[in-house]
Amino acid sequence: MSRTYNFSAGPAALPEPVLRRAQAEMLEWGKARASVMEISHRGKDFIALAQKAEQDLRALMGIPPDYKVLFLQGGATQHFAQIPMNFARRDQGVDYVVTGHWGEKAAKEARPLAQVRIAASGVESNFTAIPPRAQWQLDANAAYLHYTPNETIHGVEFHEVPDAGGMPLVADMSSDILSRPVDVSRFGIVYAGAQKNIGASGLVVMIVRADLLARCPKDIPKIFNYAEHAANESMLNTPNTFGWYLAGLVFEWLIEQGGVAAMAQRNRAKADLLYGYIDSSDFYKNPVAESARSWMNVPFTLAREELDAAFLKQAEASGLMALKGHRAVGGMRASLYNAMPLEGVQALVDFMRDFAARNG
Ligand code: PMP
Repeated sequence: MSRTYNFSAGPAALPEPVLRRAQAEMLEWGKARASVMEISHRGKDFIALAQKAEQDLRALMGIPPDYKVLFLQGGATQHFAQIPMNFARRDQGVDYVVTGHWGEKAAKEARPLAQVRIAASGVESNFTAIPPRAQWQLDANAAYLHYTPNETIHGVEFHEVPDAGGMPLVADMSSDILSRPVDVSRFGIVYAGAQKNIGASGLVVMIVRADLLARCPKDIPKIFNYAEHAANESMLNTPNTFGWYLAGLVFEWLIEQGGVAAMAQRNRAKADLLYGYIDSSDFYKNPVAESARSWMNVPFTLAREELDAAFLKQAEASGLMALKGHRAVGGMRASLYNAMPLEGVQALVDFMRDFAARNG
């Protein structure tokens, strides 16, 4: 085995016990005498699996009974478009708070489908800070307010759920779902691509307040209609069965670990360790305002850009992989999702200290 500490932003590291269990069950799942990938999604065994995964997620996040949980496909990007298609009329305003690349993209995808307003943007700070709530210009008649609680590329995270001024709050939680407790009742819609804290790519989990489904228009194709997906228990067509199974294993692992409260403690400790070291060093820098620093994605630069390639190469040789930053911000990025243990972050800090000493 030569598995390394994997700092990838996504698809990202999964808990090793989950991978081992999937490996052990690969050929014969439960009593099925076949792989979970080889059985009907409409059979009672798979339906039991699907329901258990939903129940576990409900328990982990404290999802109130008046919310539906959907297991969908298309990646978060498809839902950037599908959300306005379902929850706004074309002539209706929709408010977006943009604090980085993904919020920007969500707003852009909504433009053909509704009247997009940017209620606040962090662009002037180069997406290193969250515009103060008092400066947001919300339209009380907007269909919803969309934001990105954690911006995966810029490493900017809301540490509190913002006041949505009475509008349904829509959150793209792709990169921080299950990383800490959140009060789901504050949201109209939460959605997340699975490939960071839930499981494998190709699955999107959506939590939607049931009354909002009445807005889904009848004149769009059924396959795009969330009310249809909800009415059919996310089995309008063949779901991503293996992705759903894997998500279920991750939820079981999270419950064994003590749930999202335990994850929050760990995630905070990991983030404190890395930011603490970066701030104590003259060699590394993180540009994000302290109050908006992400626990999940930590971008940082080296004192001299020409050292980037050597840093990455030596990190890889030391068992630390996927630290290259996104091209939009450059430098490095360490993603510290739930599956990254504190020891991995300690190994990264030890390497960074040694690298700085040799190159400072
Ligand atoms: N939103 C956020 C916050 C993301 O981090 C990502 C992917 N990294 C996306 C949306 C896009 O997800 P997908 O590739 O699944 O469409």
